[in-house]
Amino acid sequence: MALPKMNVPRYKVKLPSTGAELNMRPYLVKEEKVLMIALESNDPEQITQAVRNVITSCYELDTLEDLTVFDIEMLFLQLRAKSVGEEMNIQIKCKTEECGTMNPISVNIDDVSISKPKGEMSDTIILDKKQGVGVKMKYPSVDVIGKIDPEKFDSVEGIMDLIVECIDTIFDEDNVFDAKNETKKDLAEFIESLSSEQFKRVQAFFQDTPAVSYYTEFTCTKCSTVNEVELKGLNSFFS
Ligand SMILES: [Zn+2]
Repeated sequence: MALPKMNVPRYKVKLPSTGAELNMRPYLVKEEKVLMIALESNDPEQITQAVRNVITSCYELDTLEDLTVFDIEMLFLQLRAKSVGEEMNIQIKCKTEECGTMNPISVNIDDVSISKPKGEMSDTIILDKKQGVGVKMKYPSVDVIGKIDPEKFDSVEGIMDLIVECIDTIFDEDNVFDAKNETKKDLAEFIESLSSEQFKRVQAFFQDTPAVSYYTEFTCTKCSTVNEVELKGLNSFFS
């Protein structure tokens, strides 16, 4: 006789980068098991892979590749909230060097937000006011990050590759050129034709990319120092 099948609830979750609503179901024991094994390994690559797999299984999504890193981070936390609860218990080290005691902290996932870039950072960068020339940038997708050789990330070449991949449009007073319709070579040539001051302004777009973020204060249980902490990026929630 066939055993009964469990009914799985469905939820709607907003994608941070676009506001689109996605259907989600909580993860099941079999999926949680894979996740726990990855977390116990403390291997960032294994954790990233497990996080992506569980998102792919539980969200109605064609592909993860177009999503930004902060999309993935938020989708995962929302999934975690609906699967095992909004409350996450983590350990944070006291900032006092001689102390360093681990303090238990409770994080409510509902209070986690996406950090905003500091200052007046906008995705539209005007390069030449007189001619009205500028670029509109987009945050790198998982696919783009995967394409760039990690060893090149800090080099000029790596930064160039990243910028070229993250141009959304180039515009002047009369036209808007969608980067999708231009060759990588033409885009690279456009970036290379910028002055060093203009290039710096484009580069600045990547300096403070959004991430899941949670601010908290706690008093150390051992030395009573008041610690102010910002958890930023998904990895900081896995401790
Ligand atoms: Zn302490």
